[in-house]
Amino acid sequence: MSFENIKTYCQEHDVSLVAVSKTKPKEAILELYEKGQRIFGENRVQELVEKNAELPKDIKWHFIGHLQRNKVKQIAPFVDLIHSADSLRLIREINTQAEKHDRVISLLLQFHIATEESKYGLDIQEAQEILGLKSELSNVNIVGVMGMATFTDNLDQVRKEFKQLKQYFEKIKSEFMSDNSSFRHISMGMSGDYKEAIAEGSNMIRIGTLLFGARN
Ligand SMILES: *Cc1c(COP(=O)(O)O)cnc(C)c1O
Repeated sequence: MSFENIKTYCQEHDVSLVAVSKTKPKEAILELYEKGQRIFGENRVQELVEKNAELPKDIKWHFIGHLQRNKVKQIAPFVDLIHSADSLRLIREINTQAEKHDRVISLLLQFHIATEESKYGLDIQEAQEILGLKSELSNVNIVGVMGMATFTDNLDQVRKEFKQLKQYFEKIKSEFMSDNSSFRHISMGMSGDYKEAIAEGSNMIRIGTLLFGARN
């Protein structure tokens, strides 16, 4: 599948495309950049910091991996969106670092929707607790939700998990965000399940393998 095909598919469905460039060299990023892609996703702080320094300044860098609190300060000056806000302590640190840089950092609440134990993410109660404190967090803007489905061939299972995330999104929107039109992103879907994700309401997909080839 080519970049042009995926881009067209996204445009037809009104979906944002995050090109997941982790482990890939800057030449590969520039190749897509020259075709018009501006949003790139990385999951390691060090790699993201290096790529940001060397690549065009109008790239919007999304952080998509588990983020350690002690590393937030390295990406706070420039990150465009953090997909992986998965604890109150992390969000407080993002808020602190954003304030230091006189910025408001956008983030997505990452939910645990998969059956696997190992994946990070909030449940709905934890998210509600965080949202109840959002007036204290004036340097972060919670703009949506993110989740990863179980790694399985069972697409019914995957669709069920995406449905769950969409329901969390709608619940949060009605309970906490009725006055915040920037709460509108549902980041779900990767190379193996993006069509199911879009069918279940995703409006932001994170695609690596299909765009850049397999990773080592
Ligand atoms: C690596 C990664 C992706 C992209 O996965 P592909 O299957 O290569 O498309 C998407 N989201 C997250 C959080 C990732 O870590």
